Amino acid sequence: VTLFQAPKGASDVLPPRSGVFERVVRAGEDLFRRYGYRRVETPVFEDTGVFERSLQEGSEIVTKQMYTFTDRGSRSLTLKPDATAPVVRAVIEHGLDRAGLPVKLYYTSPIFRQERPQAGRRRQFTQIGVEALGSPGPEIDAEVIELAAAVLKAVGLEAALALNSIGHPGCRSEYLPVLVEFLNGRREELSKDSQFRIDRNPLRVFDSKEDADRKVMAGAPLIGDYLCGSCADHFDGVKELLTSAGIEFVVQQTLVRGLDYYTRTAFEFTSKGLGSQDAVGGGGRYDGLSEALGGDPLPGIGFALGVDRIALAVENLGPADEAALDVYVVTAADSQRRAALEAARRLREAGVSADIDFMSRGLKAQLKAADRAGARWSVVLGEREAAEGKVTLRDMASGEQSEIELGQVAARVKQ
Ligand code: AMP
Repeated sequence: VTLFQAPKGASDVLPPRSGVFERVVRAGEDLFRRYGYRRVETPVFEDTGVFERSLQEGSEIVTKQMYTFTDRGSRSLTLKPDATAPVVRAVIEHGLDRAGLPVKLYYTSPIFRQERPQAGRRRQFTQIGVEALGSPGPEIDAEVIELAAAVLKAVGLEAALALNSIGHPGCRSEYLPVLVEFLNGRREELSKDSQFRIDRNPLRVFDSKEDADRKVMAGAPLIGDYLCGSCADHFDGVKELLTSAGIEFVVQQTLVRGLDYYTRTAFEFTSKGLGSQDAVGGGGRYDGLSEALGGDPLPGIGFALGVDRIALAVENLGPADEAALDVYVVTAADSQRRAALEAARRLREAGVSADIDFMSRGLKAQLKAADRAGARWSVVLGEREAAEGKVTLRDMASGEQSEIELGQVAARVKQ
């Protein structure tokens, strides 16, 4: 054991997984821009009230999972357990909604939740996501879902999409008493956690993974049967738009989101092969959130994708065979070391990734280092070639070599 290790449940993302991680973030950010979203950065910590107000007492994240601390100025601050509330707080604070609607923003952010760690469930993890504020939908709902699906597709992940509508508070005030009555009738059969949820957040009982709870919930009344006309129309609109966009989904009437500010559309993507933590992303509409945070009414919808879990799922598909490096510059003679530095610089300027030996190794050891670095090519600088103004370009996989002018290496490599 070393003197220090990463805190429990928080992990280091190391190469080569960090390369997959990075690819997921890039694919997401590229697509977010392509769909007209712009980046937003919010602080890693917020006034604790931001989460108390938005997640509401009674939600598990607030009661059990927040990293809350008091700073030297006696302020209560919390590491963000969710990215949506901070974005909406920023929109309200800076009046972004006054500059024209919808406000379309995206983020890449660390998230902190003090959960019980297990495979695919960490206490610090990274989410990429978008928030679209100002439109009541359903077109924007469909766009947001399509965008999440596009990101997963771009990284090569097949994920199943589950969709539901949880109505607006009016629908829920019809439905919740019926659900609570049902749950109270079966109280003895439910797990301790679920019994606790009946009075606090009864919808959450649907999220339980306990067999006993699942058995009970298979017969539970469903929110879908209590949607008002306009929520039902909205849901029909979303389904039609997704169908015409060629996006497959399954309506899952037991899909509820854990957070109370969600309204209407709720969705989740899951991927096979991840075990019990199989959700790679999810989102939904949160028409009541702006007001909960003291802003004007402002409907919104967004999603968050879990980068760590997506990277895990992508890795499970097979090794990422992308070479980590285009070219490793190798010197056959010590007299060429300066020239090698210059060669690496020129290649990098030409947009090719290149590395070089910094450990004063001999030729053979340099070629080994090139292999270890995952280089697709090596460029060998020798005295004889230098006299002719040439280098040897070697395909690291096949061992094939050719003599070529340094100035032409970049073009060859990019072919
Ligand atoms: P949520 O904000 O709970 O809707 O989560 C959105 C996505 O973030 C999930 O689908 C997961 O992919 C990911 N996620 C949530 N919690 C964790 C966690 N503790 N560790 C790793 N990824 C997580």
